[in-house]
Amino acid sequence: MTEKIAVIGGGITGLFTTLYLANAGHDVHLYERGDIASGTSGHFHGMLHSGARYAVNDEISARECVIENRTIFEMASNFVDDTGGYFVALDSDEAEYGYTLFRRCIDLGIVTEEIQPEEFLKLEPFVNPSVQKVLKVPDKIIHSYEFNVAVALEALMNGASISINSNVEKINVEAGSVLGITVNDIRGTRRESFDYVVNAAGPYSSGLLSRSGLETPPLMPAVGSMAVYNGRYVNSVINRMRKPSDGDIFLPYGEVSILGTLATVVEDPEEFKVDSEDIEMMVEEGKEMIPLLGGMKYRRIYSSIRPLVDDNSKSARETTRSFRIVDHTADGLDGLVSIVGGKFTTGRLIGEKTADYVAGKFGNMDRGKKNIDLNSTYDRFSRSGKCRYPELLKMIEGKRGAIDEERLRPALSLIFAASICLD
Ligand SMILES: Cc1cc2nc3c(=O)[nH]c(=O)nc-3n(C[C@H](O)[C@H](O)[C@H](O)COP(=O)(O)OP(=O)(O)OC[C@H]3O[C@@H](n4cnc5c(N)ncnc54)[C@H](O)[C@@H]3O)c2cc1C
Repeated sequence: MTEKIAVIGGGITGLFTTLYLANAGHDVHLYERGDIASGTSGHFHGMLHSGARYAVNDEISARECVIENRTIFEMASNFVDDTGGYFVALDSDEAEYGYTLFRRCIDLGIVTEEIQPEEFLKLEPFVNPSVQKVLKVPDKIIHSYEFNVAVALEALMNGASISINSNVEKINVEAGSVLGITVNDIRGTRRESFDYVVNAAGPYSSGLLSRSGLETPPLMPAVGSMAVYNGRYVNSVINRMRKPSDGDIFLPYGEVSILGTLATVVEDPEEFKVDSEDIEMMVEEGKEMIPLLGGMKYRRIYSSIRPLVDDNSKSARETTRSFRIVDHTADGLDGLVSIVGGKFTTGRLIGEKTADYVAGKFGNMDRGKKNIDLNSTYDRFSRSGKCRYPELLKMIEGKRGAIDEERLRPALSLIFAASICLD
């Protein structure tokens, strides 16, 4: 394939889009302004959703999660903790919701089982003992950083190029067609020509398009926060048995536990502030599920932005967690798609659909290999002789740190070294 394709954004959607386009034989270049996963994909809650959270109110997203929960576990079990998850009802209204939840989960093919509260409390002794009803679902936890880097390495091995610390200032357009991008990196600012551009800048997509003088997609950026506690107080993902709301998920992540989240629509994803009252409210909600939190102080708070689809819902909680691939030909512009929405759990699926869509634009029916063994990626990359610093690779692969830690330097060097070697 001779056409050059640029992907903007090294989060989960941009990485999988790049990998699948490279697998389908395209000349694909990914630009990330920071490091791999320095946006929301490195600062989320860490859950590989079973689909149960969305089963009652967001069927499309739930269906996407059901499939991806299994697919990601098959492709990359090394990066997943198969902890399972529980929905817990703390009052009779929540128990009532549990009947609907159970039926919807079964309809959607989510393996769901009712557990007696006494049995459950033996497994999870720190959950509120007044729990009335418990459902078990296949929620899992994903070690996002190592996983993101694995997708990046796989893309490199399949011929993609990845430039980090490369900010795309604008998408260049002339006479209704995309000409390429203007990129700024350590070498300065320059224009690069491309036949097609995929905007996978996540919550930051609208800013990039506005700077380029282009129509913005239907995006509703919504900030969310998480509180990190020292220690591991539960063994599985604990969800409140009610419609998705604030402070209703508590999970173990490595040696810490994480409570989340909040969901507030923001005007500007680059400049937002989180109110301390909102954090306190989230913590109060969390204490209802896990009373132990009442006697503890969280270690830190981290926040990030959801790139939600603006589907005219009244609030960020009601908006779908599904995704859209927005083709800008509808605005009279050839050569550009923007990805909006989705979850980390469904990032692979979004990348697959986007890559297929773009390949189709070039009449390429070879959709490339989709089921890739990411468990062996680090090993294959080490043995490929293309990695200058195999010790860095080992450090990243062995890392099971907290989700938001500043531990990205090794990856930076790694990807940089790898790109040079593969040139
Ligand atoms: C609080 C919170 C909790 C969440 N919890 C979960 C969960 O438990 N499970 C789950 O499945 N999902 C969860 N999500 C959703 C999930 O994290 C996101 O949907 C997903 O990570 C978005 O990925 P992305 O690639 O679209 O965006 P991002 O990861 O934000 O990637 C976009 C990238 O583009 C880069 N970029 C932006 N502008 C430019 C530019 N001009 N030039 C170059 N690069 C640029 C950014 O630096 C960034 O790395 C959560 C989201 C939030 C906010």
